[in-house]
Amino acid sequence: MDQKPTSTLLELAAKSLLSNEQAAIHALDELPRALFVPLFISAFVGRHKEILKAMVRVWPFRCLHIGTLSLQGSDCDILEAMIDGLQLHSAQNSSSWPPKLRLLDLRQDLDCKIICSEIRTTFPSCFRSCAYSQNSTLRTEEAQHSVRCHGFDNSESEPHSASETVELLVDLSFDGTLRTQQFVSFLQSKLRQSFGSLHLCCRDLEIVDMSSHRSMLQFLDPRCIDHLQVDQAHLRDVNTLLAQTAHLYSLRLSNIRFRCFLGIHFQTFLHCFGKLDSLQELDLSTQYLRDQLHRLLRVLPPQLKTLNLSFCGLSIEDVTVLSQSSQATHLRQLDLSHNQIFSEAHEPFQTLLERASGTLQHLEINNCLLTDSTLSALLTALSHCSRLRVLSFAFNRITMPVLTNLLQHLTSLIELKHVIYPMPVHCYRQWDVPGSLNRRQLAEVQDRLKAMLQAVQRDDMIWTTHSA
Ligand SMILES: [Zn+2]
Ligand SMILES: [Zn+2]
Repeated sequence: MDQKPTSTLLELAAKSLLSNEQAAIHALDELPRALFVPLFISAFVGRHKEILKAMVRVWPFRCLHIGTLSLQGSDCDILEAMIDGLQLHSAQNSSSWPPKLRLLDLRQDLDCKIICSEIRTTFPSCFRSCAYSQNSTLRTEEAQHSVRCHGFDNSESEPHSASETVELLVDLSFDGTLRTQQFVSFLQSKLRQSFGSLHLCCRDLEIVDMSSHRSMLQFLDPRCIDHLQVDQAHLRDVNTLLAQTAHLYSLRLSNIRFRCFLGIHFQTFLHCFGKLDSLQELDLSTQYLRDQLHRLLRVLPPQLKTLNLSFCGLSIEDVTVLSQSSQATHLRQLDLSHNQIFSEAHEPFQTLLERASGTLQHLEINNCLLTDSTLSALLTALSHCSRLRVLSFAFNRITMPVLTNLLQHLTSLIELKHVIYPMPVHCYRQWDVPGSLNRRQLAEVQDRLKAMLQAVQRDDMIWTTHSA
């Protein structure tokens, strides 16, 4: 039988139930399992807080993910209602039967359905379960299984049986706004009430002004974090956090304060970096690193895929070191914008392009003092970057003949779809003074490039200026 009419019928039934919220809440105990997911989706989309809370309380599956359902910044109250529905080990929960729901995932995730299929037998678990924290459901279940199989009793160190442990997955942003603070305070109070039976699993954490959020960090397990952003902090505090993380995939640091590169804090910073074996994405934009890149690259994992070093004050020596590094042959995304890297020689960057040509997909060299002669010298190396998808070199002093020559070279790169080019010099009455831009001449440039792309059947390629 075709599935579509069935699901439509379920959706209609869910909508009908929601028309009388109180009756729907009363009916939840008798509700067929098949109706839970469509009813949840309708209740979530309609922002029915009370029914969402009641549904979490009696949810008949092991996991519940928001997945692709859309969430606005002002939806904290919806999340709080769902968290309130969790049956935690506390004074209020004296029921003799354990709740079925073991993982509530409040992160938006385009690859995730509302529930996972239950295929594992030994530890029937969710695909998004935490694998790192000692307090995770998986770890507590394994410990309980070990007790059953080997008679090994560690109940003193594990005060909660696995059937009582619940995981709450949530991305957090400590940005200092009142609503965020209220949400974090709510989470803290839930953790206190749970007596350790709730594992708050934060995998994507953003901290703005670290010194004012130290107390909030204490209730998180840093081992769970895989994406971390820190803006405004002392390097000492960043080091403390980094030393406790073990599975970082992506790290973004900006406005980090420290006294000097030879000081103990920078040494410790390098030591912490040396332990980030899983790191794939690093963004240190706006962090001054002149002549220090060699120390960083020495400790970074060689398989690093993304490196953002814009506004880092890089010298030609830094580019030389990068071009010779083991990371160069793995990079997929590189941003060296707003560094004067072409003020002296282009050879180190040319070597970098040659070594990265097999992997590089996204390159940004905006405002790097790139000139006609330098760009012309780099043409061959650029046209060998066969994986390139995005190239951005805006805010450099380039003339029209060199721009058209570049286009002719790059149209052979089949994967290259997006090029952000600088407005050619002749479009300005006075170079790089915004008010002196001649828009008519710029429009002519755009028309000519478009015609050239059409002539070689590369309409799929978009050439645009930064302001367009
Ligand atoms: Zn799941
Ligand atoms: Zn966790």
